[in-house]
Amino acid sequence: MLRPTIVQLHARDAVQGDLHAAAADATRRRFGKKVYVRGVVEVSNFCRENCAYCGMRRDNRALARHRADPEKLADLLVNHRPASITDINIQAGEYPVAVREVVLPLIKILRCETPLGISVSLGSLSPALSAELKEAGASIYIIKFEIGDPAKYEEFEAPGTFDKRIKTIQHLAGTGWSVSSGFIVGLPGQTDAELLLNFDVARSLPIVGCSVSPFIPGDETPLAKGQMASLDVTLNCMAALRLMRPDWVIPAVSALNLAGPDCGYRRGLRTGANLVTMNLTPSDLRADYVIYKRDRFIMTEERILSAIAAEGLEAATQSLSDYYHSQNVNGAAPAEYAGKL
Ligand code: SF4
Repeated sequence: MLRPTIVQLHARDAVQGDLHAAAADATRRRFGKKVYVRGVVEVSNFCRENCAYCGMRRDNRALARHRADPEKLADLLVNHRPASITDINIQAGEYPVAVREVVLPLIKILRCETPLGISVSLGSLSPALSAELKEAGASIYIIKFEIGDPAKYEEFEAPGTFDKRIKTIQHLAGTGWSVSSGFIVGLPGQTDAELLLNFDVARSLPIVGCSVSPFIPGDETPLAKGQMASLDVTLNCMAALRLMRPDWVIPAVSALNLAGPDCGYRRGLRTGANLVTMNLTPSDLRADYVIYKRDRFIMTEERILSAIAAEGLEAATQSLSDYYHSQNVNGAAPAEYAGKL
């Protein structure tokens, strides 16, 4: 499947079951039963951007802003990390000061002291700063394009401009990063045509993975009174994405559990996801890292391993960064897609 139809994205009942089963089957054929298990630490909630859908936007004065101590985080990750994680994602709002003061020192320690694959999710940074991150030892850059429709991108004040975001993704892939992107489903007023456009943008990008995040109305945001995205449409988008690109790593994002308490995450694993993320942010920092709501659903090691086992899957022992390295992929589409994308 190259581009899903809107009928597929709204499928229910038996048609939906067939779509999800086909996506799960495509995942197993490409990746077997292995699911990558990544830890995430949220190291700073300062952000210079003002996305209407995010609680960390700069206009949110209700949030206590903080930066983590890199030494403390390093101790946690070097000496006390859960045994099942193979990769760590270092995440922050877009704020270069935090990158210099927290992220770079942390990466340097982790690169020396652990075999962890290192990914970063830090927004659009200057080419020089992203080069420093890579030089320090990170190899995967997670940067969503957020909204595939440029007019809606501007309306919802997504980071920078749509064109700049796309150029940043292309630059990162062109300078050797393995780049994973993503988009949001169910933003207020999103039309079917806009939903489909996300697939066109995703497949035009030099990326190795893509996430689908359900819109969750965030506290203290202009969209706080908006309606939460449909879990079914979100899962259908994940399945369609998997069928469009069986080679991509697709995460089961933790927001699936906000959109569908107790079942969203596991349904994500049944819909072609092959990456899960465990939150390792120390609890004193976690309270103010509010993308959606203060009442967050935290994915612990126990919850994640239980979900993987309950779906008959297995935690991968190879890191995602080693996997990308072994496949020699940095966004170039495999030969099987030649002339099709
Ligand atoms: S989505 Fe990212 S860039 Fe936008 S306000 Fe939130 S943290 Fe900042």
